[in-house]
Amino acid sequence: MRRGSLQRWLPGALVVAAVLGVAWRLASETTHTIAVDQAGYAIGEQKLAYVFGRTGQFAVVRADGRVAFRGTLGGARFAADVGQVCAPAEFTSLDQPGTYFIRLSDGSRSPTFRIAARPHAPVLAQVVRAFTTQRCGTAVRTGLPQDHPACHLQDGVLWTDPRQHVPTPGGWHDAGDYGKYTVNGAYAAGLLLLAAERLSAKAGDQADALRAEAHWEIEWLLTIQAPDGSAYHKVTARKHPGVVPAEGDNSTRYLFPASSTGTGDLAAALAIAARAYRKEDASLAGRCLAAAERAWQWLAAHPEPRLFRNPEGVNTGTYGDKGDADERLWAAVELARATGKPAYWEAARALAERRRPFFTYAGSWADVANLAALSLLTDDGLAPADPLRGRLESELVRFARKLADRCAQHPLRVVLQPRDYYWGSNGVVLNYAMLLLAGGRLAGDESLTQAGRDQVHYLLGRNALGLSFVTGVGENAVRNPHHAPSMLARDRPAVPGLLVGGPNAREGRALSPHPATCYADVADNWTVNEPAINLNAELAFVLALAGS
Ligand SMILES: [Zn+2]
Repeated sequence: MRRGSLQRWLPGALVVAAVLGVAWRLASETTHTIAVDQAGYAIGEQKLAYVFGRTGQFAVVRADGRVAFRGTLGGARFAADVGQVCAPAEFTSLDQPGTYFIRLSDGSRSPTFRIAARPHAPVLAQVVRAFTTQRCGTAVRTGLPQDHPACHLQDGVLWTDPRQHVPTPGGWHDAGDYGKYTVNGAYAAGLLLLAAERLSAKAGDQADALRAEAHWEIEWLLTIQAPDGSAYHKVTARKHPGVVPAEGDNSTRYLFPASSTGTGDLAAALAIAARAYRKEDASLAGRCLAAAERAWQWLAAHPEPRLFRNPEGVNTGTYGDKGDADERLWAAVELARATGKPAYWEAARALAERRRPFFTYAGSWADVANLAALSLLTDDGLAPADPLRGRLESELVRFARKLADRCAQHPLRVVLQPRDYYWGSNGVVLNYAMLLLAGGRLAGDESLTQAGRDQVHYLLGRNALGLSFVTGVGENAVRNPHHAPSMLARDRPAVPGLLVGGPNAREGRALSPHPATCYADVADNWTVNEPAINLNAELAFVLALAGS
């Protein structure tokens, strides 16, 4: 926003802000003490809400005002990471589909939620649609206020020789900004395609939507491969352009030198794509597989990690890493699955054997080994009696049980420990949820599966803030993401379906003395409130694993 226009609008904006502030406080007085999943609960699952600082009776009320269930709050427990006592409100036996809210004896009420066979199916649809609004190099026409003409059509020139133009339009903007990063783009596209693979037959339309949206990024990944098979690490400007319209960002954007992490992720995502599109588009599948194999050949010829660091004078994202063993593993696994070639299976096996213990922490875009293992375990190429399968399965179930124990000890059933509330903590939640859900399916253990679903409930409002971290999902959802197109359409709702980073007790420690509430729904705070394609893709994958 330019200075003149800011001065012109400021007095009016202050009045609006004051009115909204009062309205928000009034609303929060009647809703914030009751935390529910604002999308809802599945028929047959355990249904819990949490009430902070209260005891006594509660009622679950239909949208039309009729009481459907009455109960007593369970024993209150102190949540150390929240700094408050909270009590569960259980209404598991209420399985009648409908829209409800919870009411306490003092009249305070929760946001509404649904009970349905697949209450999170609309969330998955929103989360996938949000990717469409992140598209670069094309006009975005979704009917939202944030639609814009084609942007960044000049991408990009080589960092090492700016006279050389390498056409790399397309792909998704990464997050709140407009950069395009191979590591995160390949991770997100790979996850969407793996999510499509996990969706049951009854969710065929959603699988088609996932494959269609991922295709946009896959085509970009094909452009980002250098002639020698490596992948340029990113296409960005030297510095973040600030909050400007995408089509108005005329900064020169560079293809930065290749990394082995980006090349490994690109190989993995394109190998997944080769499988995913084989039936519907053999030509696309063939291009993807050829590119993935070229990337692998480059990795094989360059066994030492080639890790990316920003050159001096560049402040756009790094997506740096400490090593590339996990990216090589993911690439080998997906190439083995796509081709069945013994050489890839041997490479995958050797890399997996080296990681002991295999499961130690949540994965992320920077550590894709857990994801590689989940993919490997779904493939028939790894025989039931194979010792590697035996080891990975038993380690996964053991680790998932450890995580489920952690959830059971937390008054809100959250998997996070105080140290886990760092930048992008919502992604940590999701990466643990993947292991809980995959472990639950493997062991046939409903308690693990429920612990995985509980993490989704956390993200969608059953948390200390009573806030859904996905824009547009729920009555009390994030409204002010650090997302340039949403910030520019200031008086309009943000792009729906964006999951933000969440509480951050490091960079956001001034926001609260308690890690779970180190958060503020303000657009300027990118350390807690920025969405990103990795977060949205992780959510899509978890919703698919949960059978949403
Ligand atoms: Zn763009």
